[in-house]
Amino acid sequence: MLITQAPKGTQDVLPAESARWQAVESNMREACRLAGYREVRTPVFEHTELFLRSVGDTTDVVQKEMYTFLDKGGRSVTLKPEGTAGVARAFLEAHLEAGALPMKMYYISCPVFRYEKPQSGRLREHHQLGIEVFGAKDASCDAEGIRLALDVLAASGIRGLRVSINSIGCPNCRAAYLEQLKDFLRPRLPRLCDTCRDRFERNPLRILDCKVPSCQAELTDAPDMLGALDEDCAAHFESLKASLNALDVDYSVDPRIVRGLDYYTRTVFEIITDAENGPLTVCGGGRYDGLIQQIGGPATCGIGFGMGVERLLLVQDMEGTAPAAPRLYDVFLCTLGAPARLEALRLVEKLRSLGVRADLDHAARSLKAQFKYADKVGAPLVAVLAGDELERGACKLRDMASSTETEIPLNALERVILDKLGGKEHGDQL
Ligand SMILES: [Zn+2]
Ligand SMILES: [Zn+2]
Repeated sequence: MLITQAPKGTQDVLPAESARWQAVESNMREACRLAGYREVRTPVFEHTELFLRSVGDTTDVVQKEMYTFLDKGGRSVTLKPEGTAGVARAFLEAHLEAGALPMKMYYISCPVFRYEKPQSGRLREHHQLGIEVFGAKDASCDAEGIRLALDVLAASGIRGLRVSINSIGCPNCRAAYLEQLKDFLRPRLPRLCDTCRDRFERNPLRILDCKVPSCQAELTDAPDMLGALDEDCAAHFESLKASLNALDVDYSVDPRIVRGLDYYTRTVFEIITDAENGPLTVCGGGRYDGLIQQIGGPATCGIGFGMGVERLLLVQDMEGTAPAAPRLYDVFLCTLGAPARLEALRLVEKLRSLGVRADLDHAARSLKAQFKYADKVGAPLVAVLAGDELERGACKLRDMASSTETEIPLNALERVILDKLGGKEHGDQL
């Protein structure tokens, strides 16, 4: 173990990358703000029991992937393996069901922990953006959520998105379907992979989305959940399709999408992008009408999605749509001598108050080294406070792109810089 190496499956967000995170986060905030979602923040760990009761104790997540430990008081706690259960617990604990419903919430870059083999854009600690809505039973809400996810992804430069939807029914129609499915699978069990054989009793629905080709081949003629939906669930699915059409969302129905978690009912969906090495799911979600009851509350329907930030950024990289890093400084002030430094300190503060990104040398370097630094960080303007000009109450202002230098009186420097930056507060177009 090297203490200077982050634990396997974790990743730092370094200063050069954080602006990309903030851009995606602000796309999410803006889409949510326009649609009446408010931010919710819940703890990083919860009682283990919450996840057993919500995510489901037969799921892969709960059986194999949770970071569960006893705290010093001997209580079993678990680092969040997904975003929904904690929000549902918070909703219930604060009695939000007694307030105005629907309650639309979102979370931003919520850390999620799963002990699994790290794969592309899916780390042991990764971060999710998501929404959770409680108290909206109409499928228009499901469609709105899908549209919102698409808008956030599109604003973040992700292209070639496909939406796949399915309905896994309610506990009533699903129970009958699962018997049908098991009858179909039983004679095929010897030819399924170990994981699928293991899932047969505890979570047969998940066999449907096994990615092993030999399993997929066995499943070609598997009965379809959509054909087994009861009247209400079928009507809900039709209403989802009509709502997606109204929102101009192209989608395809994929009866193999089941999502991994026990709390889903009716709508499940994935948003997929076709990357170099095959399809990548960038967003997944669905309806969880039984979740609040499962954790001890009154019957309250719900719908949500989660979107992995690291995976989204990975797709940006693959598609070459990562936004350019914003400029660090508009202007850098180089100084020679203590009086010049004090003058620069004052000027920098004034420039910042005007919205200009400005800085001076804090490392007591030579003029040449300061210049080199300003160039390295890409400052388009460099002011030099030194020598004769400074004695005359002026400085040299260098335009780095055109390599032209002009002498500017110090009392006119702010105005000249603002002019050069295009008169705009942040002058990004210079
Ligand atoms: Zn049903
Ligand atoms: Zn399999």
